[in-house]
Amino acid sequence: MENINLNFIYDITNNLNSSYDINKVIDNLRITFGKYLFTTKFKIYVMDISGNNIYKDIEKNWIILDENCQKLFNNFNEKINETDNKKKYIIMNDNVCEFSTIQNLKLNDKVYIPFKKYGKTFAFLELENIDIKKFENNIIKTFEVVLSQISSAVLNNLLNSQMQINVKFYDAMKNIAKIIENQYELNYIIPIIGEMIDRFIANHLIYVFLKDDNNKYNLLWPLSCKDENIINMLDTVKIEDEYIISKDKKIAIFPLKNENKILGAIVASSNVYPLNEREVTYLLQLANQSSTTIGRANMYSEILKHATMDALTGLNNRRQFEIRLNQEFATAKRKNKKLCCMMTDIDYFKKINDTYGHIAGDIVLKKVASIIESQLREYDTASRYGGEEFCILLPYTTIEEAKFVAERLRKKVESEKIDIQQVYSNQKEIQVTISIGVSEFNEHTILTPKDLYKKADEALYQAKEQGRNRVVLYQNETSHEM
Ligand code: GH3
Ligand code: MG
Ligand code: MG
Repeated sequence: MENINLNFIYDITNNLNSSYDINKVIDNLRITFGKYLFTTKFKIYVMDISGNNIYKDIEKNWIILDENCQKLFNNFNEKINETDNKKKYIIMNDNVCEFSTIQNLKLNDKVYIPFKKYGKTFAFLELENIDIKKFENNIIKTFEVVLSQISSAVLNNLLNSQMQINVKFYDAMKNIAKIIENQYELNYIIPIIGEMIDRFIANHLIYVFLKDDNNKYNLLWPLSCKDENIINMLDTVKIEDEYIISKDKKIAIFPLKNENKILGAIVASSNVYPLNEREVTYLLQLANQSSTTIGRANMYSEILKHATMDALTGLNNRRQFEIRLNQEFATAKRKNKKLCCMMTDIDYFKKINDTYGHIAGDIVLKKVASIIESQLREYDTASRYGGEEFCILLPYTTIEEAKFVAERLRKKVESEKIDIQQVYSNQKEIQVTISIGVSEFNEHTILTPKDLYKKADEALYQAKEQGRNRVVLYQNETSHEM
């Protein structure tokens, strides 16, 4: 069930990042909605952010706000404003309801879901024929995240269409949306966001703060901030602020927030240059994208607590690995069967991230995972144990057979050319190698499931020590290189 939620967010994210052409995006969304929400009947109504001009760039489902739509839009806005603005609402048959009441929907009801930014509705989604009974319980929460993603994509698209946007900015936006698509560790994500914005904004230092559980701002990018002015200004930011800027325009703070909570802030500051209007607009959008991303990451980590699958690679996650390890171990012990464990780690992976960027790193991880999967038999299980470490369980397998599988896998990875051109234009293909440690169950020295894994890990350590790109077997308390 949890995997459905993950896949839903994952598919939506991919859709939204797949193209700058909103019509294409909408076509893709239709497929995803069909798959997860069992309806393909939806429209997105959008108002030009200036609030005056009607958005005319239209095909199929990208609706022009003609006079009728305009009325609907105004009516809608009024209804929303009448009620508690902090909550997300749907409108069913003219009633304004809380989002959670989506459970009461009947099949023929039309639902309108507002997309709001800075307290103003700028677009809404009209959904029809949702069969709510088919929903998995948890998907409603997921749906909220998905909506906020769509909503920020729509807003970005609108803003972009009004600005002469340069390519660098597009890239920064796209990368922020993309990078984090299967990451949920904010401590890992935020510095990447910070670095990207920093690279884009030339004359100003960029800081990224995140609020902790005690509502205190913590600096996550870069390592330190000695500017008292920034620290003082941070405390004055209120939820309704779009951004705040110092009188001399040299410091600006862009809050990262969801509907009703400040999550953190992006700060741009310079001792010399004031920010111009254009930079402010850019930063506003980048902050907006970052907020969505952080919201999604939070949602992810919530769902992942219960999930069995690793979202990036599609392999089992660590938690599921531990469950499988216990099961296989018990079976091997009870039935006196063979069982091997392979610990795999990509060599010098940090260098890949540092040289080609984290997205290229993610591509490599996916590729290695798919090679691992292709090399295994049906009853073998592969899991992503951690960052770039994979663990494979081979039931009914002797260590000699496991050695053969490991060696074949190592060679396959070594020979594969991984295409990273889509994220790194200077180079088309890269190659990586892996090191593998293998252990085998025996009743004398391996007493617990953890022992089996630990011995594989020790053998892996040896493989690294001996120069990497090799397989090492753990045998009777001593390791032998092949
Ligand atoms: P060694 O040959 O000794 O294994 O060297 P290494 O560089 O591979 O080892 P190290 O453990 O120092 O580096 C692992 C790196 O993996 C560090 C971390 O930034 C990166 N990493 C962890 N998770 C992810 C991820 O999900 N995506 C990407 N792109 N990188 C990740
Ligand atoms: Mg490594
Ligand atoms: Mg490692």
